[in-house]
Amino acid sequence: MKCPKCGVEMNTGYLQTGNLVAFNKQRHKISLNSKDPEDVMVSRRAFTSNDFTGYICKQCGLIVFDYLNPKTRL
Ligand SMILES: [Zn+2]
Repeated sequence: MKCPKCGVEMNTGYLQTGNLVAFNKQRHKISLNSKDPEDVMVSRRAFTSNDFTGYICKQCGLIVFDYLNPKTRL
């Protein structure tokens, strides 16, 4: 996959997360819980973690990943 930002070939891998990962429209200062309809709670795990297949561009720092199909990690 070519990087949509700079056009360099991206490397495949896994975005490995901790307990809580959110993508929010506005930057929340404390809680990561959704406030806006466009907010996405990407990962919420108490005792396990989620890994997401994706691509990384080491040229410009962009990461693209599939947040709908996580793989649970113990
Ligand atoms: Zn790039």
